[in-house]
Amino acid sequence: MRPGADEAVSEIAVGSPDDVERAVDAAAAALAEWRDRRPTERGRVLAEIAVRLRAEATRLGALESAEGGKPGWQGPFEVNGAADYFEYYAGLVNLPQGDTVDVGAGYHAFTRREPFGVVGVITPWNAPISQAARGIAPALAAGNTVVSKPSEFTSASTLEMARIASEAGLPAGVLNVVTGDRDGVGEVLVVHPSVRKIAFTGSVAAGRSIAREAGERLIPLTLELGGKGAHLVFADADLQAAAKNVVLSFTANAGQICSALTRLLVADEIHDRFVDAVLAELRGVTPGESYGEAVTEVQFRKVQEYFDIARKDGATLATGGEVAGTGRWHLQPTVYTDVTSDMRIAREEVFGPVLTVTRFNDEDHAVQLANDSDYGLTAGIWTTDLGRAHRLAAQLEAGTIFVNGWQGSVVEGPFGGYKDSGYGREKGLEALHHYTQTKFVIITL
Ligand code: NAD
Repeated sequence: MRPGADEAVSEIAVGSPDDVERAVDAAAAALAEWRDRRPTERGRVLAEIAVRLRAEATRLGALESAEGGKPGWQGPFEVNGAADYFEYYAGLVNLPQGDTVDVGAGYHAFTRREPFGVVGVITPWNAPISQAARGIAPALAAGNTVVSKPSEFTSASTLEMARIASEAGLPAGVLNVVTGDRDGVGEVLVVHPSVRKIAFTGSVAAGRSIAREAGERLIPLTLELGGKGAHLVFADADLQAAAKNVVLSFTANAGQICSALTRLLVADEIHDRFVDAVLAELRGVTPGESYGEAVTEVQFRKVQEYFDIARKDGATLATGGEVAGTGRWHLQPTVYTDVTSDMRIAREEVFGPVLTVTRFNDEDHAVQLANDSDYGLTAGIWTTDLGRAHRLAAQLEAGTIFVNGWQGSVVEGPFGGYKDSGYGREKGLEALHHYTQTKFVIITL
């Protein structure tokens, strides 16, 4: 359904446990041929998928925008982001290489990096095609086969990507998509005995539950969970550029980005003028144009509940705090000042365009506030002091640190969480290694 409208965008089958069984069987049957191919031949197919995704970016992007309630410009942008993953990993197919290991004369010893086999890739609704590609591309590059389970709210673009992959020459069974919900598909995939690794992106609660199952089965897991990123602004920063970037970092995709920086920490001496600069920047942000809708009604209501929670906890509303009044699930960009670390609005992931603002006295205080969080996915620093940038980059407890500029997505760099934000890494070279296991071979000569 189109978010905020009574309008069907696509008709999606509700998959069953039998469908999962068939998809896993197909993936298992396709494994040997795909795994044993020369890596450059796998890479050629991945590169072709990227080319075809770009060629269809307008049409697929329109679908992505409609299903996710996003402005028209955003869908194609995300499809091109998905293509980036296939392009990047197409170029890296030869990298999971082994080493020779010297154990003295009389032996030849070496390591091999081998795929796990069938990998389950389970994804949420906020950036569907790009998150699916983020797991699928490196898994395939490393020689695994995949069963992908997109969010029940935004499944269409992942199905389209699988069609494109097949037209690009990916053999049948190498990539399978089973649509459906948590009970009928997601949980069944996680406990299937032939699935040898799970890459999960989604909520902390679901991550914990999957980790319990994976623990029972002793299979490896990559968990990309929520975030509540701190954004530290010091008095020596380029405040105009910082204000612009702070606004982007919490309003992009209506705040429905795990890497969003939603806790603004500002040096005491610039607090008032910096908040004014952020509010001035926000006048250029229009719900429906700059960003889209809450993807689900549950999410739309959840953000509104946080407006009440923030008020009751005593945060000061500087702007927003309302539904945007477009008749759809648009939310106003919202800023709360006088926020303390114990308030729920500062501790819990809202996943909406909501920013909290807290003052700090000095560097140590800033670090203490930033790290006072259960989450640890991303953090941002604005300063022109190079020494401070390095000091803080080392001290902040987060998997990604942005210095002088939040970036939505960087394909080439490893991405993942500290603390409750998860473990394992997606993106970059590191992800490729997470989709392989090491075998040591020692031959007596
Ligand atoms: P969710 O956890 O409810 O669902 C995510 C996916 O997992 C869906 O496909 C769902 O059907 C499936 N699922 C849910 N429970 C499952 C279970 N027990 N077993 C198997 N599958 C299960 O999350 P959501 O509401 O779709 O997405 C929002 C959350 O995702 C936010 O918390 C956000 O921070 C997080 N997120 C994280 C990242 C990241 O890279 N760290 C990126 C995007 C979103």
